[in-house]
Amino acid sequence: MVTPSAFGKQPPPTAEVETGLPACPLCSRQDVETYSDDRGRQLAASNLGSSRQDVSHGKILRCRTCGFGFRQLRPTDEELSRLYRQLDPEVYERETRGRLRTAQRHLKIVQRYVAGGRLVDVGCASGSFLRCAADAGWSVVGVEPAQTLCAKAKQLLSGRGDILCTSLQQAGLAPSSFDALTLWDVLEHVPDPLEFMKYCASLLKPGGYLFANVPDLDSRQARFLGERWPLLLAEHLNYFNRRSLKFCGERAQLQWVDFGRRPASFSLEYVFYRLAQHHVLGATLSHRMVSGNFLGGISIPVFLGESYGVWSRPA
Ligand SMILES: [Zn+2]
Repeated sequence: MVTPSAFGKQPPPTAEVETGLPACPLCSRQDVETYSDDRGRQLAASNLGSSRQDVSHGKILRCRTCGFGFRQLRPTDEELSRLYRQLDPEVYERETRGRLRTAQRHLKIVQRYVAGGRLVDVGCASGSFLRCAADAGWSVVGVEPAQTLCAKAKQLLSGRGDILCTSLQQAGLAPSSFDALTLWDVLEHVPDPLEFMKYCASLLKPGGYLFANVPDLDSRQARFLGERWPLLLAEHLNYFNRRSLKFCGERAQLQWVDFGRRPASFSLEYVFYRLAQHHVLGATLSHRMVSGNFLGGISIPVFLGESYGVWSRPA
């Protein structure tokens, strides 16, 4: 059961520590409790991505020391890349217009801290953010392991920048060579977020900036919706809050700069479709009402309960 009130700074003195639970992957403390368990044990292509048939998210644990949340079942890198290759991009791809709007918001965030230069977008998907950055004069590189998305990104960039169809660790990027590195909705998917963050930090020039947007377990949406929060997903291996996000960057030798929340843009049809998948009251009827007419195509900004962190690599 989700009991958000249990995650204050100090655990209540009477709280029992469950035995047999793993240590926190972020701070290594053996001070972990069950946050949510829907008994969904499967991690298969049918419960990944926007086109999923099954919304079970598995057992999610939470560290009482640093606030980090994580899925107990953690697939290997090889299992994950196999699953992502099978992902059905159909529903994701219908939302191109909304993704461009969200990408423009991301660029505004980046340009608040760094004016231009060389940028790498890790997990660039179909390249909406890279296109906005290239339009604004950035020299861009994208890394994306899913082939279908890679092909779309190449098409969208039409020759500007490099799109590398591989994992970050295999991309062979030169260390200390980027002014900005972006992780838009990526850190929640990686099996070892700390090692991943350290690797990302090594790619930044001294004084370069790193940006990461993640699901926030302490967001109002997560607290209010509980088990029905649409970001509790099988492919989300990691969940943060402000404290654990800051801590993750610090452990990767990055300097904490800022924290914020941005909305993502989606069509009304997509919003109701996703809420209906999670059995939110009234969503199925609303989805039926807006499907296939002009209402469904209206794009709206939605705060899903995500947060972003900004760090810099010390000069
Ligand atoms: Zn921890």
